[in-house]
Amino acid sequence: MVTPIAARDDVLRILDGVMDPEVPVLSVRELGIVRDVIVDDAGAVTVVVTPTYSGCPAIRVIEEDIVAALTNGGIPNARIRTTYAPAWTSDWIPAEAREKLRAAGIAPPESAESGALVQLVRERAAVECPWCGSRDTEVRSEFGSTACKSLCVCRACLQPFELFKSI
Ligand SMILES: [Zn+2]
Repeated sequence: MVTPIAARDDVLRILDGVMDPEVPVLSVRELGIVRDVIVDDAGAVTVVVTPTYSGCPAIRVIEEDIVAALTNGGIPNARIRTTYAPAWTSDWIPAEAREKLRAAGIAPPESAESGALVQLVRERAAVECPWCGSRDTEVRSEFGSTACKSLCVCRACLQPFELFKSI
């Protein structure tokens, strides 16, 4: 009796169903946290992950969620390999996923072209409101519901929203 070897596509499909604990509208793949999936000749599955920023406390939860989902999907004993190089960039979030963030009231991180401006943007609080699109917003707290998000408020529509940190 030979244990069937999991196909990489099966692993990827299961990972599509693993939501990020801090940004639950996006899967770990949509966020770009999952960098690679390796299935070796013996069938051992390794999932390569890159946290959105080093020291992100959620990465342990994410690893556990990935292993649990794969186990439930019939792929036990998956290993997680964490890599910090290259560093995660918000460019790894595709356009559709950015729309999901916006729809959930979370301002998507600025793209890499403006990456150098992120700190400046945060200080000026010129973050676009996900509800009304106004840039008349301010950061109320560097830490929102989780360390990965800042709490902002829109002066135009008065709605609070969260900014997903890009660095
Ligand atoms: Zn607004």
